[in-house]
Amino acid sequence: MTARACPSCTAPMRPFQAGAIELDRCSFCRGLWFDGGELEQVLGKKLVGSLETAMITTRKCAKCSVALHPAELGGLRVEVCLTCRGVFLDDGELVKLNDGKQVRVTQEAKPATPAPREENDAQIDVKNWLTSLGL
Ligand SMILES: [Zn+2]
Ligand SMILES: [Zn+2]
Repeated sequence: MTARACPSCTAPMRPFQAGAIELDRCSFCRGLWFDGGELEQVLGKKLVGSLETAMITTRKCAKCSVALHPAELGGLRVEVCLTCRGVFLDDGELVKLNDGKQVRVTQEAKPATPAPREENDAQIDVKNWLTSLGL
């Protein structure tokens, strides 16, 4: 499998496991790529937004290399691929979409020992989170 190119800076993205989901992260600009539906799985909620289908951005889909469309999601400006429904988030945008809470995702796909769950929920471990959702 060839590495996906970052929509933002075209550096190769590195796949990593977040629970049952494989995400791609750019090691250069730390942007995150979500295949169709993955973002909602990671956040565990439905996202409401609007997509500007008549406009395109200069960024290209990490998966199918077509131009991404600008979209507004939870008050943020993001890029969405109309072909594969993938979503690209710049560094920090995932936290904003998660109501300002840190979503901890690990770069290496190592079989992790489950981290103890934080009591105040300030930090959410995606793996534990997904497990608790039964995904
Ligand atoms: Zn990048
Ligand atoms: Zn695509």
